[in-house]
Amino acid sequence: MLVRFWGTRGSLPVALGHDGIRDKVFKALSKANGQSFADDAAINRFIDDQLPFTVRGGFGGNSSCVELDLESDEHIICDMGSGLRGLGQKIMQTQGGGPRIFNFFMSHVHWDHIMGFPFFVPAYIPGNKIRIHGCHETMEEALRKQQSDPCFPVHFDFLGSDIEFVKLKPGETYEVAGVSVRAILQPHHGDSFGYRFEKDGKAVVYSTDGEHKMESEEETERFVEFFRGADVVVFDSMYSLADMMSMKEDWGHSSNVIGVDLCHRAGVKHYCMFHHEPIFDDEAIDKILNETIRYEEITRDGAALKVSTAYDGLEIEL
Ligand SMILES: [Zn+2]
Ligand SMILES: [Zn+2]
Repeated sequence: MLVRFWGTRGSLPVALGHDGIRDKVFKALSKANGQSFADDAAINRFIDDQLPFTVRGGFGGNSSCVELDLESDEHIICDMGSGLRGLGQKIMQTQGGGPRIFNFFMSHVHWDHIMGFPFFVPAYIPGNKIRIHGCHETMEEALRKQQSDPCFPVHFDFLGSDIEFVKLKPGETYEVAGVSVRAILQPHHGDSFGYRFEKDGKAVVYSTDGEHKMESEEETERFVEFFRGADVVVFDSMYSLADMMSMKEDWGHSSNVIGVDLCHRAGVKHYCMFHHEPIFDDEAIDKILNETIRYEEITRDGAALKVSTAYDGLEIEL
């Protein structure tokens, strides 16, 4: 299984603007000052080896969309944020128009998690099968409303693929595309659901848009059990602890620190921070990553927990 991130930003997609691009060019040229490069390969080596991630690239700005690549004709995709457009384009370019089966798993239907679907080209192609799994009654209503007048020109019924909505119950285990899947209810406005996927002894948890306060031991233990021993936990760590404590309590999202605490208790191997605050630039997200790595080190009481931050384009091989 390969976990591939197409969108990692929370609430609203963001693009790097003029000033942000100029700042990266300035930093790259400053670092290159006085050096000479024999050929293109030397320039590429300099970019890859000497420029930090926040200068040579960045975390990206598409909203939530994560693919579990099973290397088969069936796809598993978590959420339909703006990152879904890129996934659809790649499928059209590399694998033709169909027929294929796309299994979506919806955390919930907030705008940032569904806005990519009208731009998902495989949904327009007859022969493709799209199964939209989730625990909300409102999935179909939300997707239809999103593609209705006066907000969008192409109606949902115009989509040429065969679309089915599959209602799941949290706590029950389902087999989809050879993967075992279980959902959990998460604290969020209008509820959200996390998913645990298991295949060939590997486990991935996708848990976004949940505000974990860790005030109730019973509630904390419910999530510790769900995360238990996972190879990767993709976790909504939208805010820093300082933000959480000051003004963003009850905004429906968690902090970087709570993710570490839950993953430590659950014996998780890799904690991947996700659903980044749209206001944060690359430097701010990188700073939170470094603070989280430090926090993990000083609170560790057992095996090391790998800490990373998701970015658009990241792939994690299991
Ligand atoms: Zn969200
Ligand atoms: Zn939400």
